Amino acid sequence: MDFDVIVIGGGPSGLMAAIAAAEKNKRVLLVEKGPKLGRKLILSGGGRCNVTNRKPAEEIIKNIPGNGRFMYSPFSEFNNEDIIAFF
Ligand SMILES: Cc1cc2nc3c(=O)[nH]c(=O)nc-3n(C[C@H](O)[C@H](O)[C@H](O)COP(=O)(O)OP(=O)(O)OC[C@H]3O[C@@H](n4cnc5c(N)ncnc54)[C@H](O)[C@@H]3O)c2cc1C
Repeated sequence: MDFDVIVIGGGPSGLMAAIAAAEKNKRVLLVEKGPKLGRKLILSGGGRCNVTNRKPAEEIIKNIPGNGRFMYSPFSEFNNEDIIAFF
């Protein structure tokens, strides 16, 4: 088969890359060596995927260990609600 894009690895980066390419009508092959996509992402937040929740950004940032204020800038572009909508 022919593909326009081949993405190696079905973690969050690979999933986003594959979805973005497919949204541009590219034929995409996503190759994952493990039995499940997004396995590491699912582990995050103690199994609760802590950026994929609907808490206000303020609360998520407050709960980031150390100084989570660096998240204000990325969240102003793409926040937890955007991640949920995307996936
Ligand atoms: C215990 C734990 C807790 C975490 N908690 C948080 C958190 O609270 N908040 C947060 O934002 N992040 C957290 N992270 C980090 C987050 O999970 C990672 O930042 C994220 O998974 C990175 O995504 P990625 O797609 O770059 O890489 P990965 O998730 O590592 O995905 C890479 C994928 O590529 C596959 N792969 C590798 N080599 C090949 C190959 N040769 N062929 C095919 N497939 C291949 C792997 O199997 C894997 O599925 C946590 C991670 C862990 C382990």
